[in-house]
Amino acid sequence: MKNKVKLQVKKNFEKSFQAGFPLISKDAIVNESALQKEGTLIELQDHRGQFLGKGYYGIQNKGRGWILSFDPNEEIDQELFTRRIEQALAKRTSFYEDPHTTAFRVFNGEGDGIGGFTLDHYDGYYVVSWYSEGIYQFKDYVIKALTSSVEVKGLYEKKRFDTKGMYIEDDDFVIGERASFPIIVKENGMNFATYLNDGAMVGVFLDQKDVRKTIRDNYAKDKHVLNTFSYTGAFSVAAALGGAKKTTSVDLANRSKPKTIEQFSVNGIDYEAQDIIVEDVFNYFKYAVRKKLSFDMVILDPPSFARSKKHTFSAAKDYPELLKQAIAITKKGGTIVASTNCSTFDMKKFKGFIDKAFKESNGAYKIVEEFSLPKDFQTISTFKEGNYLKVAIIQKI
Ligand code: SAH
Repeated sequence: MKNKVKLQVKKNFEKSFQAGFPLISKDAIVNESALQKEGTLIELQDHRGQFLGKGYYGIQNKGRGWILSFDPNEEIDQELFTRRIEQALAKRTSFYEDPHTTAFRVFNGEGDGIGGFTLDHYDGYYVVSWYSEGIYQFKDYVIKALTSSVEVKGLYEKKRFDTKGMYIEDDDFVIGERASFPIIVKENGMNFATYLNDGAMVGVFLDQKDVRKTIRDNYAKDKHVLNTFSYTGAFSVAAALGGAKKTTSVDLANRSKPKTIEQFSVNGIDYEAQDIIVEDVFNYFKYAVRKKLSFDMVILDPPSFARSKKHTFSAAKDYPELLKQAIAITKKGGTIVASTNCSTFDMKKFKGFIDKAFKESNGAYKIVEEFSLPKDFQTISTFKEGNYLKVAIIQKI
């Protein structure tokens, strides 16, 4: 990796790199054709040929790579990866020491100084997610840095880029010993069954830990909770553990039902006392209106984009409509947990969606709590897009 490509930045982008913006977007560069092989080191220059930053070439959506250093004298080598990973691990000491939480993020891409990959910890096992073929070229550096800093029982990997026929191990295993699945991890005392060898999603989304905790501790008691886009029912588990009268989980994926039963079971909750429904959420809303059902709490956590047989949902366009349907079946005084991981709009715009939905429903509301990413999902102020999670806990009044 000695060859370094010199990339020239368009003039109107120079300021943002000078201010520390780490993502090299396709739009920002003059000579994209100089980029040949992913993983190549890059030196970014302004229009005078002055140094702006150094990084690597990797295709990630509109990104063409990440800046890893703004210091011309800092080399991109094993030591840089080791330093950054050690710093990241040091910031998670409180998580490693907490016996009630054994699943958490240990390295959050650009938020920890190297864009393009993340590392998650699951009770001694680790998962690395690679977001480009470019960062995948640095795999040996990452493995060496991790294994020399912490004890790794076993490492699994997720290739979140177009692998174009590249040979893929069927179970994502990389090094160490294979785990026996499920691994039952803990999060603030809740249990979750996880499968690190079973596709992109392992069974629980670690970025919602603060929201699950507040639902359990502050909102669920004696409530009938509707959890939409429920996946493995993690929010339903939190609600049930917090004393909910009943939970109703709705997701259209067939796998969601056995997965939700499993998550209830590993927490000692009688799943037969809960409703677990495999259905399109938008149909379920219609059904609920027809049957005059209403809920004390409705949780909305849709994907940014989803296409089902009848509906295409885009959070940036359709969130207000989704909220209106939730408002219609939430009791007065009840709670709506509105969540989105869509990075194309910010909290301000999300609050605008909430306001629009309530106005068009002729309803009043109060936002009682707000959440963004938890502490283990480190972000940096120079890359606001990295803090993609927005959650508003809304009271219908
Ligand atoms: N709230 C979940 C994560 C949701 S992931 C959690 O905290 O774990 C998004 C889920 O939405 C997926 O499980 C997917 O199957 C589901 N989904 C997407 N479109 C849907 C639709 N129209 N109706 C119901 N579920 C849908």
